[in-house]
Amino acid sequence: MEYRGYIDTHVHTDNSPDGHFSATHLCEKALEKGLRAVAFTDHCEVDVFYGEGYDRRVRQAYFEVMKAREVFTGDLLVLEGIELAQPAYEPETAKKIIDAFPYDYVIGSIHNLRNKDDFYYMPTFEGLDIDALMREYLNEEKIMCEWGGFDSLAHLTYPLRYFFARSQIIVDMDRYKKEVDEILALLIEKDKALEINSAGLRQPLCKLSPERDIIKRYRDMGGKLITLGSDAHFDRDLGAGLDVAAEAAYEYGFRSSVIYQNRQPVEIPLYSSEA
Ligand SMILES: [Zn+2]
Ligand SMILES: [Zn+2]
Repeated sequence: MEYRGYIDTHVHTDNSPDGHFSATHLCEKALEKGLRAVAFTDHCEVDVFYGEGYDRRVRQAYFEVMKAREVFTGDLLVLEGIELAQPAYEPETAKKIIDAFPYDYVIGSIHNLRNKDDFYYMPTFEGLDIDALMREYLNEEKIMCEWGGFDSLAHLTYPLRYFFARSQIIVDMDRYKKEVDEILALLIEKDKALEINSAGLRQPLCKLSPERDIIKRYRDMGGKLITLGSDAHFDRDLGAGLDVAAEAAYEYGFRSSVIYQNRQPVEIPLYSSEA
């Protein structure tokens, strides 16, 4: 069986501060790579929405993806998404953002603890209480799931990438089984998807997010909805590692992943023999 590999539900354009390519360029590249569907999910950091100009960025992103969707109709399914980060820190702002445009797809994520820097921008973790950071982070993930205004939960183990990349610190997620179970239970209860994010495979940590044990646990607890996303910020990373994500999902019993259209999940078989 070969992964169909044609769907990427987590892609950033140059309307993300750390994105590098336009939506139309990424669509051309997606076609070259044989993808059939791309959800553009530019960053929207809710806790600094007004202060850092995301209000303008979000409008521009919506406009450009809408144009790309028109141009590529029939060749590539282009979905209008948004990566809503820290939504539960400012739930009223988050609601306004989601209600402003008819999105296909909303990703929920956390990049920073309250009033702290994005883990990505922290130069070192040496001397910090990693266990306390993890407990605070997972508690924020839980609060975001209780809020529940998103479709799929992104990169559940996000800080682990940077703990390792900056300070070679490895976190054993077994220590947080109870906290992770609470998050997974909320996803299942609220019919939210768990994202399998492949960006970590391209980073020093070299792991999916979440890690395989958590994907298995989600399935064992009754989880049915998964999305597969590369979190590409460069054209070369479109679809990257999604074969590995699909293989992990399949191993634990998933036979399909989902894309979201008009905020509704649409099941797509992982492998063609399952069609
Ligand atoms: Zn993210
Ligand atoms: Zn992202």
